[in-house]
Amino acid sequence: MPDFVFAEQLPAIVLGLLLGSFLNVCIYRWPNDLSVVTPRSCCPGCERQIAARDNIPVLSFLLLAGKCRHCRAPISWRYPVVELLTALCFAWFTAVHGLTLVTAANCVFAFLLIGLVFSDLETLLLPDELTLGGAVVGMVFSLVVPVNDSSFLLAANLAGFHPSARWASCGEALFGATAPAGIMWLVGYLFEKIRHKEGLGFGDVKMMVMIGAFLGVLGMLQTLILASMAATVIGLAWLKLSGKDSDTYHPFGAYLGAAALISAITGPNWFWKLMGGV
Ligand SMILES: [Zn+2]
Repeated sequence: MPDFVFAEQLPAIVLGLLLGSFLNVCIYRWPNDLSVVTPRSCCPGCERQIAARDNIPVLSFLLLAGKCRHCRAPISWRYPVVELLTALCFAWFTAVHGLTLVTAANCVFAFLLIGLVFSDLETLLLPDELTLGGAVVGMVFSLVVPVNDSSFLLAANLAGFHPSARWASCGEALFGATAPAGIMWLVGYLFEKIRHKEGLGFGDVKMMVMIGAFLGVLGMLQTLILASMAATVIGLAWLKLSGKDSDTYHPFGAYLGAAALISAITGPNWFWKLMGGV
C-alpha cells in the first residue's frame, strides 16, 4: 500500500515537475530536430524568450491564465498536464516503493511513457530518443531491479539452463523487449504485404521494445491487450461521432503509453485474474 511521507513526497513532486517541464521542451523540439539544451524557450506567438519567472511548472501557467505575458497567445494545456502527471507518478511510486531503485526505474519508465503519449497525440511521432533510448535504459535497470516476470526463466529451465537471479531478470527484459514486438512487427509486415497499407507503425513496434524491456513479456502482453481494447472502443466511438472514414490515423502509441502506465501502477494480478475469468 502507498505510504505518504512528506519528506519523501516533496522532493519526488518537485523532481517530477522539473522533469515534466523538460519533457515538454523535448516533445516540442525533438520532432523538429532542435536541441533540447539551447536556446532558451521562446513563445511561438511573439518569439520572445520566456523569462524564468514565467517558466515555473504549473504555477506560471495558472498565474498567466494560460496566455503569453506579452502577446497573449494561448499556451498549450499540454504544458501543465505533462508536468502534473509526471509529478503525480513520481509521488505515487515513491509512496509505494520508498526511496529505492524500484522507484527510480518506475519513475524513469513513467517519464518515457508520458513523453511518448503526448508526442504521439501532438505530432503523431514517437521519438527514437524515448523508444530505443528508453529500451537501453530499461535493459540496464533490469540488472539491478528484478523484472516482474518469469517467462524467460521458465523457457531457460525447460532448455536446461539455470541462470542467476540477476541474469534471469536481464533475460526477462530482453525477452520482453524482443518477443512481443517481434511478433507484432511480423504481423504488421504481413498485413502491409497483403492489404498494401500500413497496419502498425514502426514507431509503435520500437515503443513496444521499450515497454517490454521494463515490464517483461507478460506486462507487455497486458499493455497490448489493454491498449487494443481501449483503441477499439474509443476509436469506434470517435468514428461514429466525428463521421470520418476508417483510414484516419489513430495514435496507437498514445494508447500503448497509457496502458503501460496503468500496468506499471496497478501491477499484473487484477488483469490476469480478469482474463482468467473471461
Ligand atoms: Zn508571446
